[in-house]
Amino acid sequence: MTIRLVGIVGAGTMGHGIAQVLVRNGYSVVLHDTTQELVGRGAERISRGLARDVEKGRLTAEEKQQAESRLKTTVEISDLASVDIAIEAVTEEFEVKAEVFRSLEAVCRPEALFASNTSSISITRLAGVTKRPAQFAGLHFFNPVPVMKLVEIVPGLDTAEETVAAAEQIATSAGKTPIRVRDFPGFISNRLLMPMINEAVYALMEGVASAEGVDGVMKLGMNHPMGPLELADLIGLDVCLDIMKVLYEGFHDSKYRPCPLLEKMVEAGRLGRKSGKGFYNYAKA
Ligand code: NAD
Repeated sequence: MTIRLVGIVGAGTMGHGIAQVLVRNGYSVVLHDTTQELVGRGAERISRGLARDVEKGRLTAEEKQQAESRLKTTVEISDLASVDIAIEAVTEEFEVKAEVFRSLEAVCRPEALFASNTSSISITRLAGVTKRPAQFAGLHFFNPVPVMKLVEIVPGLDTAEETVAAAEQIATSAGKTPIRVRDFPGFISNRLLMPMINEAVYALMEGVASAEGVDGVMKLGMNHPMGPLELADLIGLDVCLDIMKVLYEGFHDSKYRPCPLLEKMVEAGRLGRKSGKGFYNYAKA
């Protein structure tokens, strides 16, 4: 199947980023969210992102205009009726995603492909909500989408090879490198990253080092560009906790138990950068 028209559900951090790289690379995109304000904000972020590309000489003003002309926004899911593929990038909760796929199933053509940008939820389980598990795959982009090269491609148990090939083709033509991984909790990225972050929180809780100390060791000793606690603040501590829970419940193995300090911080509303406070303070003076 040749993919030209892409529907994206969710115009947040990831949805707008995915839309940006796709329109920049010749795809037409219908970007959907629940309110005009949210889709408007997504479109603005795309426009700013493309303007940065023009400033840096990576895109001409005319190419920016053409890319923008390929983007449509909508608050009506029925406007995704004729897409070749629908990519879901809504909140990381199974029920929220399941409801999106039920709505898509009702409006999209039977031959359309479905994909989820989930960080950790089972692709097989999400595909099971639809009548097209063979046409369903995980397409896991990374944040910030215009910068990060990787896309994890995750076939579910019943995903057809043609669907995987189409997903890989989209990633490649958007300038990304696809890596195929099997459908296990956290895939590869979060199965390795989140336990490291969780262990860093344990080390902090046990007083092995300060937050600066933990991060400093990983930056100076391991050449990581960011320490695990800074990175957790960037990702969002609620997101980190949700993913640890998916690993813990998915493997039934105590080695993935979320650190009590991580749970406590989320309970206190200390979610990292987005709430102004996490392991570090981001409040504007
Ligand atoms: P976000 O909160 O920035 O955006 C989610 C958007 O989905 C919001 O604009 C919200 O209004 C919208 N939404 C919620 N329910 C909806 C519905 N029923 N219909 C239409 N829109 C709806 O979240 P995000 O960070 O962009 O994450 C989206 C997905 O991408 C999650 O599954 C997350 O795990 C995954 N992901 C996130 C990152 C990251 O670093 N933020 C990285 C990779 C993958």
